[in-house]
Amino acid sequence: GVVTRFAPSPTGYLHLGGARTALFNWLYARHHGGTFLLRIEDTDRARSTQPAIDAILSGLTWLGIDWDGDAVFQFARADRHAEVAHQMVASGHAYRCYMTQDEIAAQREAAQAAKQPLRIRSPWRDADPATAPEGQPFVVRLKAPRDGATTIEDRVQGSVTVQNAELDDLILLRSDGTPTYMLAVVVDDHDMGVTHVIRGDDHLNNAFRQLPIYRANGWPEPVYAHIPLIHGTDGAKLSKRHGAVGIEAYRDDLGILPEAFDNYLLRLGWGHGDDEIISREQATEWFDLGGVGKSPSRFDLKKLENLNGHYIRAADDARLAGLVAGIGGYADTDLLTRAMPVLKARAANLNELSEGAGFLFAVRPLAMDQAAADLIAGTTPALLAALHAALDAVQRWDQEAIEAAVRQVAEAQGVKLGQVAQPLRAALTGRKTSPGIFDVLALLGKEESLGRIADRMA
Ligand code: GLU
Repeated sequence: GVVTRFAPSPTGYLHLGGARTALFNWLYARHHGGTFLLRIEDTDRARSTQPAIDAILSGLTWLGIDWDGDAVFQFARADRHAEVAHQMVASGHAYRCYMTQDEIAAQREAAQAAKQPLRIRSPWRDADPATAPEGQPFVVRLKAPRDGATTIEDRVQGSVTVQNAELDDLILLRSDGTPTYMLAVVVDDHDMGVTHVIRGDDHLNNAFRQLPIYRANGWPEPVYAHIPLIHGTDGAKLSKRHGAVGIEAYRDDLGILPEAFDNYLLRLGWGHGDDEIISREQATEWFDLGGVGKSPSRFDLKKLENLNGHYIRAADDARLAGLVAGIGGYADTDLLTRAMPVLKARAANLNELSEGAGFLFAVRPLAMDQAAADLIAGTTPALLAALHAALDAVQRWDQEAIEAAVRQVAEAQGVKLGQVAQPLRAALTGRKTSPGIFDVLALLGKEESLGRIADRMA
């Protein structure tokens, strides 16, 4: 069966590109009824951190990307990586290289002088092991093929060929015995049974250095799919400069729902006709590597926000109420749930939703923003008094009765409904904008509504 994996290095946030790679791997595995694995590539001890690991795990969980089995930690497997390197030496596919720093420096200078890329040519590649200097430090190098070419039939990039003469004998084990990234990735992917390597196309070059390691060990080669990177709207590679890069910023600062983010990530570089709104179920049913575009996709915050608005309107009211209660620190989730159909009609993100709910929980006398204060100042006390009296007379506090009462006041005063509604809104919400005035009155209840109007009559 299909086995995919996501293999982040925990040296920073889970960023947009990583999240998309994880999603594509997850979808590919789920589509094929296969297995999706998580491997934390924590071999860079200086730069790997626990907070970064936590951010990756919680970010994936937030996105609903679950992995099968326990996460594999690469550093813990260093002995296994070394074991493979030693086996490769024994089988003649790798060798101990005793080149000194001076010898390497000499090759580097020669390459520079000839304006050629540095490709280490070690005299130890074909040397008789019996001549090895006893007790001297060595690295283990791959005996990479030098003749011919290597072709990868990449499922996204197509057929890509590199001349083997361009590759060098990469290091598998450092002189301190620790494995290199290149070796660790291949050994882990093999041991984990990974059949499909789906990752950013910044790793395409690595694939040409990793394949010989598979071949040297006689291991089955994975299918490769290198997906184009994400660029900013200006076409440059996505970076901090383009705004939020870590995905928690989308959740916390931008108030994005995970299903909106997933849908957005999916559409970023993958297409299914003209479909924009694609549910997780549909995505799982439809996802294939053939739908991945070959050119870099551009990040577009507007599109993400539009999708988010869609998903907010589609989301369950009680769930939204729970999220908004957390953001705004609101205690009454029942009231929030009741208000949600009205609130969510206008909000593009959860923060706006929380802000829009603020009037429900405001404490009398309400703080007024400037526009609301101006509205009240321009209103005759008689109008507010008439509204108060008419609403006070309402028996059953429902939309219909409330609306009839307010309209009656407008008629009696000989003004348009808007001229009544505006100061009323200011008195009830402290703002110039809010949901429909009858909704506001209904949600606040009779007593609170009358109290807020009375506060402005003094
Ligand atoms: N750890 C690598 C990264 O974070 C990914 C390696 C791979 O997918 O093969 O970029």
